[in-house]
Amino acid sequence: MLSDQELRIFRRDLLAWYAGHKRDLPWRRTKDPYAIWISETMLQQTRVAAVIPYYERFLAQFPDVHRLAAASESRLLASWAGLGYYYRARNLQKAARLIAERGEFPATHFAIRQLPGVGDYTAAAVASIAFDLPHGVVDGNVLRVLSRVLADGTNIASSAGRKKFAARAQTMLDPRKPAEYNQSIMELGATVCLPKNPQCLICPVGSVCKARGEGRQNEFPVKILTRKSVEQERTVYWIEREGSALVWQRPDGSKLMAGFWELPEPTQLPDVAVLGTLGHFRHGITFHSYRFSVVEASIPQDPGCCRWVRISDLEILPVSTVLRKAVHIIQSRRRTAVIAAGTS
Ligand code: SF4
Repeated sequence: MLSDQELRIFRRDLLAWYAGHKRDLPWRRTKDPYAIWISETMLQQTRVAAVIPYYERFLAQFPDVHRLAAASESRLLASWAGLGYYYRARNLQKAARLIAERGEFPATHFAIRQLPGVGDYTAAAVASIAFDLPHGVVDGNVLRVLSRVLADGTNIASSAGRKKFAARAQTMLDPRKPAEYNQSIMELGATVCLPKNPQCLICPVGSVCKARGEGRQNEFPVKILTRKSVEQERTVYWIEREGSALVWQRPDGSKLMAGFWELPEPTQLPDVAVLGTLGHFRHGITFHSYRFSVVEASIPQDPGCCRWVRISDLEILPVSTVLRKAVHIIQSRRRTAVIAAGTS
């Protein structure tokens, strides 16, 4: 723990640094809880640079809860395509419908936390940033900064560790400036207290950081995962006819990515002939790491649940990341073939 004086210095120096060094991000120019909620939801599991264009497009398409509540599913999912973790978009819409019904955005931490898809992090972020309520956020950046500043080797991947650091985050929060404090500690983790190379020489809180004082900054955070990632090989078929590809759509009731378009796999089309391999890519889902082979295959007699869809339409339909990566491989091969033909 920090002494009272160290804590005062920590807050003061962190906030002063943030005021002068924060990145100019679109969601930092607003206090609108709706916009902040959208940005915080997109930022879960997605990098800042990748989120910016999605955030701007999303708000242009759905500028308030009412527009989001009324959006068609295909438009909603298409606006999210590429960000992954589509349950986030569905939950946003469910929550938007509730908020639209009630008439106004919930303005307490408790009420925000009740919305579908909102966890501890998002509730604390929206409550503090939009409403200046004193709730400390805990994300990967905060866990890293806190474990180093406090030189605390508690396993951040354990539930006991997360509870402990959540309590620490709350104690260290500056209750007079919760919005700035929460954003500043996340910003420090994202730009200075980096996972591999913490920039201690330029760090604004270096004077009170215990790990730096002990020269042990690279020993924190301690993260011990108990489950190992599972490697698996999978094949998807690329079957093309006159500018259309054979794809299938996940049914509405599907637990995973309902409504999304996918490429068929051998279980769906057992009788096609394999004509050649077009490429490979990796794709990770939680603890599974897949190596996909994209294989050209013959047109089946019975396409089963698959349908012909124009390849150009795949850009505007909600398609899975797997399908998107496979199309990228096909397009790269075609570009290479065109260049090779032009130079021969
Ligand atoms: S001094 Fe180094 S380890 Fe400590 S918070 Fe700053 S960057 Fe992180």
